Amino acid sequence: MTAMVDIRSVHKSFGSLEVLRGIDLEVRSGEVAVVLGPSGSGKSTLLRAINHLEKVDSGWISVGGSLVGYRRQGDRLYELRERDILKQRTRIGFVFQNFNLFPHLTVLENIVEAPVSALRRPRKEAVRAAETLLDRVGLADKAAAYPRQLSGGQQQRVAIARALALEPELLLFDEPTSALDPELVGEVLDVIKDLAHQGTTMIVVTHEIGFAREVADTVVFMDGGRIVERGTPAEVLDAPRHERTKAFLSKVL
Ligand code: ADP
Ligand code: MG
Repeated sequence: MTAMVDIRSVHKSFGSLEVLRGIDLEVRSGEVAVVLGPSGSGKSTLLRAINHLEKVDSGWISVGGSLVGYRRQGDRLYELRERDILKQRTRIGFVFQNFNLFPHLTVLENIVEAPVSALRRPRKEAVRAAETLLDRVGLADKAAAYPRQLSGGQQQRVAIARALALEPELLLFDEPTSALDPELVGEVLDVIKDLAHQGTTMIVVTHEIGFAREVADTVVFMDGGRIVERGTPAEVLDAPRHERTKAFLSKVL
């Protein structure tokens, strides 16, 4: 089976700081990859590169068989036009640590906005789909509320519904529960677990080791801009081979 996400030899620097130092990673369709690693190891930069929110210096990334941000001509890569990059992004859902909902829009409007404006879906159809999604994340009764009227956990569940509204072939989560009070973490992880069990392809950056153990097909440990270790949850979490992985796990477990 071909990879849903294929990352090859990706390098990225900010000025003199090399943040990604040759990343190779494949995630197959329906697979859940959990990315662990200390702060500053390049996890967010990698996720942002998959969405072309961050341009890489060398290497390439493909999602669903097409290069992200570029087209290939002979052996050279040419960057796509902004319009085509935006179109590609609609195929990739991104859920941020801080929800990033539109504060001036209701919950329903937050979800309806992208399908109507980016995919030109008829409004009525988009509203119906949004209501189904809200039901799926357990917030059918919050359609008319504004983000500020919701708890952090509820806001994050709306953000997940909003990402799903574009029917993405890939979902990226960047520490989706790090900004939440501890008692709200579970409700958000439950929604993500549901998606995992339904076969959604996902890359999840998180420090929630229990979640990784339960839903990850692959656990990736990053440090210093490199993938230090990768394997099944049992391999990486229970029998890490590298000292840096062991040291990290001893701090978060
Ligand atoms: P992580 O998500 O693993 O904590 P990041 O990918 O956010 O790591 O950051 C990796 C390194 O790159 C950090 O040292 C961070 O300060 C730096 N960095 C990230 N984004 C930028 C940027 N836009 N400009 C300069 N440095 C950045
Ligand atoms: Mg980060």
